Amino acid sequence: MDMRLVYFVLFVIIAFALAMCTLESTRTTKSIGKSVGLLEFSLIPPVIGNAIFVFSSYKLVSIIGYYIYIIGMDIVMAMLVNFTNYYCGGRRDSKRKPTVMYFILSADIVQILLNVVFGHAFDVQYLEFDGKPYYKLIPHFGCTLHRIVDYTILACVILIFALIASKTTRVFRERYTVIILALVIICLWRVFYIWSKQSVDRSMIGYGIFGILVFYLAVYYRPLRLLDKMLSRIASRIPDSIFVYDPNGKPIWINEPAKALTGVNEDTLELVVERLTDMFGKRDDDKTDWSEDRVIGTGDEALYYSLEMHSVMDEKNHLMGSFLYVRDHTEEKLKLKRELYNLNHDNLTGLYTQPYLYEKIRERLDNDKEKEYFLVFLDVKNFKIVNDIFNSAFGDFALCRIAEWIKENMTEDCLYGRIAGDTFGMLVPSDDFDADKIEEDLSNFKVTDGNVEHQLHIYLGVNAVSKSDTDVSVLFDRAHFAISSVTDEYNTHIAFYDDKLREKVMWDQKISSYLHEAIETMQIRPYLQPITDNGGNVVGAEALARWIHPEYGFMPPVKFIPLFENNGMIVDVDKHMWRCACRLLSEWKGKHDDLFISVNISPMDFYYINVVSEISKLVKEYDIEPKKLRLEITETVMMNDADNRMRILEEFRKQGFIVEMDDFGSGYSSLNLLKDMPVDVLKIDMKFLSDSTENEKPMKILKNIIKLSEELEIISLTEGVETKQQYQQLSEMGCKLFQGYYFSKPVPEDEFEEYLKKSV
Ligand code: C2E
Ligand code: CA
Ligand code: CA
Repeated sequence: MDMRLVYFVLFVIIAFALAMCTLESTRTTKSIGKSVGLLEFSLIPPVIGNAIFVFSSYKLVSIIGYYIYIIGMDIVMAMLVNFTNYYCGGRRDSKRKPTVMYFILSADIVQILLNVVFGHAFDVQYLEFDGKPYYKLIPHFGCTLHRIVDYTILACVILIFALIASKTTRVFRERYTVIILALVIICLWRVFYIWSKQSVDRSMIGYGIFGILVFYLAVYYRPLRLLDKMLSRIASRIPDSIFVYDPNGKPIWINEPAKALTGVNEDTLELVVERLTDMFGKRDDDKTDWSEDRVIGTGDEALYYSLEMHSVMDEKNHLMGSFLYVRDHTEEKLKLKRELYNLNHDNLTGLYTQPYLYEKIRERLDNDKEKEYFLVFLDVKNFKIVNDIFNSAFGDFALCRIAEWIKENMTEDCLYGRIAGDTFGMLVPSDDFDADKIEEDLSNFKVTDGNVEHQLHIYLGVNAVSKSDTDVSVLFDRAHFAISSVTDEYNTHIAFYDDKLREKVMWDQKISSYLHEAIETMQIRPYLQPITDNGGNVVGAEALARWIHPEYGFMPPVKFIPLFENNGMIVDVDKHMWRCACRLLSEWKGKHDDLFISVNISPMDFYYINVVSEISKLVKEYDIEPKKLRLEITETVMMNDADNRMRILEEFRKQGFIVEMDDFGSGYSSLNLLKDMPVDVLKIDMKFLSDSTENEKPMKILKNIIKLSEELEIISLTEGVETKQQYQQLSEMGCKLFQGYYFSKPVPEDEFEEYLKKSV
């Protein structure tokens, strides 16, 4: 057989294979593809060079073959360096180009090419091989140099691969080892050829195979063992349970959560199926892929799972196995439940929030049209005091106690919740409403946290509803409104919204709609009640509102002031009264120059208008000395935003107004406020004191208040003086000013003038 032809064919096949590898490498998306492709491609010329000189019988052709081969090998080395640099060279950005290597190799190429001129590198020798002429390579100095360069580089590459291999993990080491081994074998093969002085160099076959190997390892090879390990690590670490079955449904692997879920371990794997059936029940159908949700247990103990079974097929669609995926949703479900609960439940008392309560009540009233219900509004009287006197923690505690009481007294058919602050709402089937028991409970509702004890005054407004389409908030407003009808605050705690109240609501609406007209037409006008000093001289008057209605006749303030204080319209009444007082004062100029008029400022005014600018505008308009217009303010003004209110009073005094504290003694913290409140006059109401039957104690209290005000340099004024005796007693105590029926009732302006004339 012609060996040279065999080698030729072999080299051509290798060259072809390398060309294919080159194409494939450039097609791959892997970033290493380019450097592999270059290496593959660079191997083609030396292989072709080999094919040429192994088969050629012509000297020149053989020489060209040798040139292609030798120079080609330099390019192969350059590409090998490039590949090694890419393959072993850490991360891309930190890579340095092996420029020195490229330079040496380029120099070698030049040196070899110069062989054409100097003949220093190699020559060819004619011999007969298989009976045909063959030109064998005779290496000179230049060729030896070339070999030294190539082998040094090869050795370096091997060294680099060895170094990397020693550092890398076991799974990757195998691919490096294969490359090293291939390179070493090629080296030995070449060395053998050079030394044995055989006529045909076959080591190029090794390079060719090496090229194909590199292509496979770099582009196709995946460390399966690594993937395997990593996937099983990942699977065992995820929080959900995974069960892997063989095609017969026998469990072959489960992860840690799955072990925890079923309580089996590696040795008792076969129990898995049984345990899962115990937990989740048996499935009826025999579908291979399915998913479903399961709830185990009920109520707060319930556990929520989702199950997914997937089968795994091979390329030929044969079942390879299956896996079950079990996810525990309990936490998520609980979180969702909690969120929903928080949304609908007041976080202090745990009762329904107002919107949710209203929604529930609406639903009930719409769905249950037969039953008669009581809609109950619960309010605590002066709850603010609880927060003020104790602290807000005690206030919260008290609210929780109320919530508890509500819960204890409600039946299953009741709905209840917290409306806002200290108000609660309930819907109770009228048959379940035990008024006697509630009255009894509320007559003595004490709250104690172990240290302090406080009695709460709780009132229920009840609105009977049935088949009602009226807005829940309106129904509650009516129930709330009923509370205002409680007259005996100590013995009655429940008030029903009845026809009388319904009428009152109508009445309120009616007179509210009249108000503006009443002001414009002076139906509402000031009555004046004289204020006297201890010598019996009239020094001024309090302007008190009266409504002389064309239809309903004379109306005292109780008929409209509380209503307008509730709906905010008091501001209009007061502004009107202030203007009337100013007009009077300006009319009195030159006539009653030494008289003042006191006007009332409702606490509500402070919410709606800037009282300072409003009143100072008026005195300017009527050109009145501010001290002539005295301002009566009750201490309740201080209940909210005390600092700011204090500043307002200071501002009044700075402008020359005289500020009087009205109804002193009627509130809860009069004495406390007195020390901070910037007032000039203290109006003490006899009514609050004469409530008690004995006379001695109130007088003692009065005496001390008068003494105290003297010390604080505040003028004392007693109102509600009805008898001469009271007047004398108070004068003796040192009271400076007096007002009351003993002197005169509040009277119209002309009567007041009459009174003045009489009194001088
Ligand atoms: P007040 O400011 O404490 O006014 C004193 C009230 O006591 C007046 O009742 C007066 O008629 C009454 N009074 C005077 N002397 C005696 C007496 O010797 N014995 C008794 N038992 N009562 C006496 P009135 O005029 O019915 O006013 C009631 C309340 O209505 C006033 O209490 C005041 O708070 C409010 N008010 C009256 N007019 C106005 C106003 O124009 N604006 C505002 N915001 N409130 C007003
Ligand atoms: Ca007053
Ligand atoms: Ca008063």
